[in-house]
Amino acid sequence: MKSYDRLVFELSREGRKGYSLPKSSWKASLSSIPGTLLRKVPLPLPQVSEPDAVRHYTCLSGMNFGVDNGFYPLGSCTMKYNPKVNEEVASLPGFASVHPLQPEDTMQGTLQIYHELCRALSAITGMAAFTLNPFAGAHGELTGLMVMRQYHMSRNDMKRTRVIVPDSAHGTNPASAAVCGLQVVQVKSTADGTIDVDDLEPLLDDTVAGIMMTNPNTLGLFETEIRRIAELVHACGGLLYYDGANMNPLLGKVRPGDMGFDIMHLNLHKTFSTPHGGGGPGAGPVGVCEALAGYLPDPAVVQDDDGRFHIVRNPHSAGRISGFMGNFSVLVKALAYIRTLGRGNIRMAGPLAVLNANYVKESLKDCYRLPVDRICKHEFVFDGLADTSSGITALDVAKRLLDFGFHSPTIYFPLLFHQSVMIEPTETESKETLDAFIDVMRRIAAEAASDPDVLRQAPHDTPVRRPDETLAATHPVLRYKI
Ligand SMILES: *Cc1c(COP(=O)(O)O)cnc(C)c1O
Repeated sequence: MKSYDRLVFELSREGRKGYSLPKSSWKASLSSIPGTLLRKVPLPLPQVSEPDAVRHYTCLSGMNFGVDNGFYPLGSCTMKYNPKVNEEVASLPGFASVHPLQPEDTMQGTLQIYHELCRALSAITGMAAFTLNPFAGAHGELTGLMVMRQYHMSRNDMKRTRVIVPDSAHGTNPASAAVCGLQVVQVKSTADGTIDVDDLEPLLDDTVAGIMMTNPNTLGLFETEIRRIAELVHACGGLLYYDGANMNPLLGKVRPGDMGFDIMHLNLHKTFSTPHGGGGPGAGPVGVCEALAGYLPDPAVVQDDDGRFHIVRNPHSAGRISGFMGNFSVLVKALAYIRTLGRGNIRMAGPLAVLNANYVKESLKDCYRLPVDRICKHEFVFDGLADTSSGITALDVAKRLLDFGFHSPTIYFPLLFHQSVMIEPTETESKETLDAFIDVMRRIAAEAASDPDVLRQAPHDTPVRRPDETLAATHPVLRYKI
């Protein structure tokens, strides 16, 4: 029996309580609130004892699955282990209780973290300047595209309204371009899975604001024609945007700035040690080349000749994209992570992530169809089972994995294949974990032939089995009381 089998929701009993507030302080402050604002009828909150509340939430947490429970090979998400020491550093009182409106003099350490992280990310990526204000990867994309638009507008080049996005791009790329008021133009991939330069060339003219590229791309492949693409796009007056959410395998190896990119974002909550999923706090810093530094959003942090740090506004900025200066605790974790690894060790993350991905790919490619059979970077994509006669789908495989305690890979993305199964093991997994996953994936392939119904009905052992995802999205039930 799992702990959540005992989970009940209606625990409230009249008069039961699980809190003890110091009477004196709250009674005293009550008198300072105008009578018209005071609640006349008590809120209908559940009345439960402290152990009931603790057990309820502990049971609920047992229904969740995170990277701290087990292997989580969700492609394009880099669900690697995030060292706990970075959480401790971020929760030190000086960091955790800083207020964004404090006088500069009282938060020099905070501003120093911001400044140092910008410099560390510049060193890692080869970009001249960074803003750490965006809250997520997609928010970074929007910020970067606003910088792109601001650059063209400042040159009075108003017709540049088209952004080129590869067909393998993450869905946020075209979405961010559309939110920024730009028109999305798709460029095709070759059979090898990289951008088709022949398809790109005719799209390039003086209406192109820029191209968004993900590298390694969504198939886990290093884009081989970057130099040529950079020349072509720059020659037509456009800019190169680098979606660096997948930067993990390239850390310390190659730098987008050196490849000719003008603007990029990073996902600190993938590559730089912040747990993510479920919409938790993230950060999507945006880096730009020297010529664009003046267009980064407000506010920024600079250091003066005396070593003091200041918050500054920028007269030419693309605007303000967050209330203050980003999700500070995420920034602290990222800097702690970078400093802990140091220049030498950070170079090891990529090769280990690449080795793990290729090991899993090679160990499974006889059972699962591998549409692009090349050395991959951090992730790769199968297109369903090699033997399709059972009709078993990517969804069936994903659901069956849950029965064995593994999180599912990303499925049905990228859209290039009908039965995409996108696997990213990351560098933090041991060979034993990878072998256990490979065994289960092989077992599932065997079950597809011998007992396909077991797969069609999976998962057998989870609190929720196969929810109607369309219904869940269109009619979400967000309260336990209907
Ligand atoms: C995750 C991801 C994004 C979006 O990042 P969010 O923080 O989820 O907004 C964009 N591009 C790629 C390639 C990604 O993997």
